[in-house]
Amino acid sequence: MKKCIICKNNIEKYVAIEKKYLELPLKYGSKQKSRSETLNADEYSCPFCYALDRDRLCALFLQELLEKTKTLEINILDIAPSGAIKKFIYSNSGKDTNYYTADLYMEDVDYRLDVQDMKDISNESFHLVICCHVLEHVKDDKLAMKEIYRILDRNGLAIILVPLDLNQTETDEEWGLTEAENWRRFGQGDHVRKYAKIDFVNRLKEVGFKVNEMRKADFGEENYRQNALTDTSTLYIVDKNLNNFSKKRELIQNFVDNYKQDFDQMNRIKGEINYWIDCCKEHNGQILIWGWGYFVCENSRYTKAKIVFQNHLSMEEKVFAFDLQKREDIQTTFGENGNNYYYSGIALSYALNIFENGTYNIFLKLRNSEKENLLLIYKEFHVSN
Ligand SMILES: [Zn+2]
Repeated sequence: MKKCIICKNNIEKYVAIEKKYLELPLKYGSKQKSRSETLNADEYSCPFCYALDRDRLCALFLQELLEKTKTLEINILDIAPSGAIKKFIYSNSGKDTNYYTADLYMEDVDYRLDVQDMKDISNESFHLVICCHVLEHVKDDKLAMKEIYRILDRNGLAIILVPLDLNQTETDEEWGLTEAENWRRFGQGDHVRKYAKIDFVNRLKEVGFKVNEMRKADFGEENYRQNALTDTSTLYIVDKNLNNFSKKRELIQNFVDNYKQDFDQMNRIKGEINYWIDCCKEHNGQILIWGWGYFVCENSRYTKAKIVFQNHLSMEEKVFAFDLQKREDIQTTFGENGNNYYYSGIALSYALNIFENGTYNIFLKLRNSEKENLLLIYKEFHVSN
């Protein structure tokens, strides 16, 4: 008996892949005998939750990662999301996990976008990106890889999978062929390339990724058996090559440690800010940032901060950006009270008259030299003159 990691049902045998995927390439004249790295054609999908073998492989990795990041605010982007993975992430993540979906064609996604040009997504804004079986469909896969690199946090991880036939020695690709030609050369009517493994890995490396291959030895024989994964099934996890992992297993721990540090600090700062917003009420509408400068300057790995005040109705924004390492910056932005920021008293203050009557949202962003953190806090406050 086997057990699907995603729906936890006991399974005698998973369902074989639809025959057309094996027959059509031959029908259209493919002569090549294929040897898939990950596909298990005989036991392809779960009879209960329809999870594919590659979904189950991803879930083996996600299970541990989601468990360890339950208390953190992790932003996940799933490109061309699979229903099974979506369900798995929803049921295994903590309440602070932000799971977003993206696709060019699907209606019910958070971002309608082309993976080759994700202009709606800002730099380094996702901690985990999942992109499974997408790159073999797009015209310029290098552009798509660069985009994933761009939107990935500097300490982030991305799962990138494509169909790999181990008999393929060179990548074969051509855009704009007939469906029949696609079936013959690339194994599916809407694929535009068939990767050679070495070339897939090299392309990822060329855009700057470090490629970590996780296999049976990493996930354990029993997990592979339960989920009917073939012995050669391999999960590709890429990172920005800024950390030195000596072992593959450290990927997850390193990921967790990095973000734990960020989010511990974020939570402290959130507490601080809630406090100064309360103080604001008591001080006749003056907005005080109480002790915040001390916290951020003394304990922080961040070097820059930005506070955005957005008018509730007009959505107009007033932005204050400053360098936390420069005392002058804080003084210029916030006036003389900034003098005291070292000593934790009233760090920063705004006069009431810079705001008109109304309700404002406050966003705080912190940033070290290369990374702009996502939104750290969102809070409403009211000013009346
Ligand atoms: Zn299942």
